[in-house]
Amino acid sequence: MSRFFSVKYRNLKAYVPGEQPRERRMIKLNTNESPFPPGKWVAEAVRAEAEKLRLYSDPESTALRKILAEKLRLKPEQLIMTNGSDEALIFAFMAFCDAQHPAYFPDITYGFYPVYAEVNRAPFIEIPLRADWTVNPGDYAGTKGPVFLANPNAPTGLQLPLSGVEEILDANPDCVIVVDEAYVDFGGDSALRLLDRYENLLVIRTFSKSRSLAGLRLGFAAGHPELIRDLKTMQYSTNPYNVDRLAQAAGIACMENDDYNLKNVSEIIRVREKTKASLRALGFEVTDSQANFVFVRHPLFRGSALRDALRKRGILIRWFDVDRIRDWNRISIGTEADMDALTDTVRELLG
Ligand code: PMP
Repeated sequence: MSRFFSVKYRNLKAYVPGEQPRERRMIKLNTNESPFPPGKWVAEAVRAEAEKLRLYSDPESTALRKILAEKLRLKPEQLIMTNGSDEALIFAFMAFCDAQHPAYFPDITYGFYPVYAEVNRAPFIEIPLRADWTVNPGDYAGTKGPVFLANPNAPTGLQLPLSGVEEILDANPDCVIVVDEAYVDFGGDSALRLLDRYENLLVIRTFSKSRSLAGLRLGFAAGHPELIRDLKTMQYSTNPYNVDRLAQAAGIACMENDDYNLKNVSEIIRVREKTKASLRALGFEVTDSQANFVFVRHPLFRGSALRDALRKRGILIRWFDVDRIRDWNRISIGTEADMDALTDTVRELLG
């Protein structure tokens, strides 16, 4: 830290992203990317749009919002496009949290939530998940600020049924309930269909996982037009051209050919279920993940030890240095061949 760094950020602990190896060819199961490349139409759209990079992008992402609204049966004014869904989350923390309105989220969830609260200097309250890693909706009754729920949750992969989301919405009509659906396409039940009934619901989605576009940085939030306007105020107060031309063009091409993505999602689900069974047969405890990763613990490995042993053998998985989950690992679902390599390597490690 330089001597110029603001005192307000002295205690800020930045988020640590998963490793992105540059040299050696690794099997990369640590950051929940899709193992499948985007369709060729994405590169074609990007190439064509590159001709126009002299000009700023459309700050309203009008064409992209139109096609997305049609696909999701929403109105364009219910959508804001963002630079990754991380940016939609930042905007939500900026717009809805302050000293009187702390953020509420589970103690085990996406590690960025406490960082976004800190960077906005908003207090936050972590509500413990039950021992089986499920959310108890009753614990969220009468909150004084917005609730952030990743659903399915990360890194557990567990889904809170929509009835539970509704219970939280009903109990907190005066607070925004943000449902982060980064992983919903892999088996979750989307809260989008509750939007018509709840003006305090904000659903956040990403093109990074099910649409194979993590490197593009494209996400969005869906909600009541007034909530969306609040987020747009944050957009126009920070970075109006937040979604660049290439991302808008790629997003449109991606949505025009969405069958390709949905086919890949089905394959990831199939391989996930096979991986769950293989790892259970090797003695792992495996949660019933509805995401594109599994969350596992083995009685013979500490979480960090399994991560290190696999890394030496060319496989990256994720371990979190966080209370309650130090014995656990999160493993993204790769191709079937990747996952066979994983289970074979674990079998070797077990001797
Ligand atoms: N929410 C959750 C729960 C995530 O795991 C991630 C990915 N790390 C994100 C949001 C952000 O994804 P992106 O910014 O790539 O859309």
